[in-house]
This record gives sequence, C-alpha cells and structure tokens, in this order.
Amino acid sequence: MRLVVKVGTSTLAHSTGNLNIRRVETLCKVLSDIKNAGHEVLLVSSGATGMGSGKLGLFKKPEDISTKQAAAAVGQCELMYTYDKLFQEYNHCVAQVLLTRADIEDESRRANLHSTFFRLLDFHVLPIINENDSVATEEFFIGENDSLAALVSTIVGADLVVLLSDIDGLFTADPHKNPNAKLISRVEEITPELRALGGGAGSDFGSGGMSAKLNAAQIAMDAGCDMIIANGDHPEILYDIIAGKDVGTRFVASKKSNQ
Ligand code: GLU
Repeated sequence: MRLVVKVGTSTLAHSTGNLNIRRVETLCKVLSDIKNAGHEVLLVSSGATGMGSGKLGLFKKPEDISTKQAAAAVGQCELMYTYDKLFQEYNHCVAQVLLTRADIEDESRRANLHSTFFRLLDFHVLPIINENDSVATEEFFIGENDSLAALVSTIVGADLVVLLSDIDGLFTADPHKNPNAKLISRVEEITPELRALGGGAGSDFGSGGMSAKLNAAQIAMDAGCDMIIANGDHPEILYDIIAGKDVGTRFVASKKSNQ
C-alpha cells in the first residue's frame, strides 16, 4: 500500500507549541514498522510554525506574515531534526520536501516533483512534506496541510490518505458541544449538508479544522483515492487502518472503479 499520512500540529505539539515527545516517538516507531512491513509511506507534517513559535517564546500563533514565516523557518529545522533522529533509530532515512502551490500546479514542476518522490521511494526513503511556509506568499499559499496531503496523494497515486487529527472523525454535530453527536464512519459524497457540519477553526497553532478536511477529501476522492480522518492521539491506530478495520471517517474515492 502507498500511504500518505498527515499529522497536524495538535497531534505533534502540546498547547504550548512545544513538541509532544511521547506522541512523536510513537508516530515514528509505528510508521517505521509500517515501512518495514513493506508499505510505502509519505508523511505530511505540520508543526513548523507551532514549534518555531514555542522556541521563539511566542506562545500563540503569530498573526503577521513575517513573524509566521520566521517561526516556520525556526520550527521546520526542529521538526526535521526530531524526525531524522527518531527515524534513524529504526534505520529509516528521511527527506525534507517543502512545497508551494506553484510546485503542484505548474505542469513541469509537478512532473519534476513526481520524479523526485518516486526516486525517494525507490531508495526506500520516507519523504516528509510541508508547505514552504517561510517563503510562500499569498499567491502561492495552500494554507493548510490537509489539502497539501490530498494533493501529494494525487501526485504519487496513493492508495490512501490518512489525516491524523485531535478528533475521531466527522460527526453529525460538534462533539465538544453536543453529547449526542455521532461519528459518521463512511462518506461517499460531500454534500452541502455535510459541509454544513464542517465548522471552522482548528487548534491554536494549526490551520486546518473540519472544512479544510472536507476540501482535502474532495481532492482525494476526485483523484480515486480513499481518505480517512482518524484520531492521532494514539498513532498505533494506523495499524488498524492498514488492516482495513473500521476506524474514523472514511471518504470513499468516487472514481475508484475507473482506476
Ligand atoms: N504548514 C504549517 C506548519 O507546518 C501547518 C499548516 C496546517 O496546520 O495545516 O506549521
């Protein structure tokens, strides 16, 4: 299976913006094991701005673009240093790939990216992807990594995109406010009613939220790729996902039969 896994800032960091060491260690161990079992994994990781903000002592999401870009530049180093160190423990090599919208939309840049990803996968390297936050300008901004993960899945022809978040999946209502909210386990079409459930905001440092996840789902589904939203509190959940168990919310690829 070729798998794109996206982890959000809320999974990777504490509310201070500093790294959640226990969780990231587990994530790297599980992903290493999944690779050892023969699957191909691409990791889309947020956390640069959050971690950089923590390191710079900002303690909340920066608002102006240059502080955001500075924080991302600091945090991206810390993020990759951590991943490199942890994956090395399990004998896996990582590569950093930082993208802007232009790299995906421009035909020749996209073709180049496609070759780079496949060369990395040939070498059994684990590509770790983020938006190039410290240089991305408004024009080329994707803005959140849920869509970035879905876009990466279209480039590499992934079998599955998994968005690990701080919520179990898509609910019939906001589970923080409504105790009767029920998890929706399968979505075949993103209807306006479903979008109305999407709401807005993500965590203090992240940029996602449910509406971004629905946009990502639409990109993946249109490209013939299933997408799952699952809770990343326990990254071992990825084993269940690979085993095909009913976990989180699965968005079913619309063009699957044509692939
Ligand atoms: N690219 C951003 C970062 O690494 C995160 C975007 C998102 O939260 O989806 O900080």
